[in-house]
Amino acid sequence: MAKGKTFIISGPSGVGKSTVLRELFKDRDDLYFSVSATTREPREGEQDGVSYHFINVERFQEMIEADAFLEYAEYVGNFYGTPKKYVDRAMNEGKDVILDIEVQGALQVCTKRPETIRIFIAPPSWDELERRLKSRGTDSDEKIQKRLVRAKAELQTADVYDYFVINDSVDRAVREINAIMLAEHCKPAERMKILKE
Ligand code: ADP
Ligand code: 5GP
Repeated sequence: MAKGKTFIISGPSGVGKSTVLRELFKDRDDLYFSVSATTREPREGEQDGVSYHFINVERFQEMIEADAFLEYAEYVGNFYGTPKKYVDRAMNEGKDVILDIEVQGALQVCTKRPETIRIFIAPPSWDELERRLKSRGTDSDEKIQKRLVRAKAELQTADVYDYFVINDSVDRAVREINAIMLAEHCKPAERMKILKE
């Protein structure tokens, strides 16, 4: 069985990553969503073990020391990290893995695993990004301003990504991500392995 591939989805907070990924996962059982660990407080409706593993700073530190993270980073005052073992298990089961992580973490993963495919999700405009962050209603004005500053810095790094998807319509963004994933599985290096088996 061919090993799965890892796809990183990055993009500013509020751009719609969770919304788009929720749709993407609706009709795919061959995908694994990597549930990150974070020291951030859960938002209303977020379930422990589903959106994130919500842990405290001490536990996060222990996981760093145990080398349990594929990558980790600080983002607007909280820590976020990808537990390594579940990612490896899913890939070994032939599943593609989706990491919803910010740009510093994406860089760490690609340094360790250069074959990882990186997709950047951008908003149609800054005004629309601000509107989405406000309409989500989960962050204070101060946090929203910090997330917008961070968003502009993140966009500067987007040209090192392999693909750029604009989340104007959720349906189109999902179609584009599906198309990217399919195309990555049509690369000769992978397809030719099948013939050699
Ligand atoms: P992220 O996971 O990137 O932080 P969310 O998925 O939480 O972002 O989306 C932020 C807000 O934007 C939510 O209220 C969501 O319903 C809305 N949203 C997401 N995608 C779109 C879109 N294409 N058009 C309009 N609103 C959207
Ligand atoms: P939020 O607090 O809005 O859920 O996430 C804030 C940012 O952290 C988003 O850009 C999200 O992609 C990123 N993020 C979530 N999990 C991880 C992770 O495990 N590692 C890294 N580096 N970033 C993460």
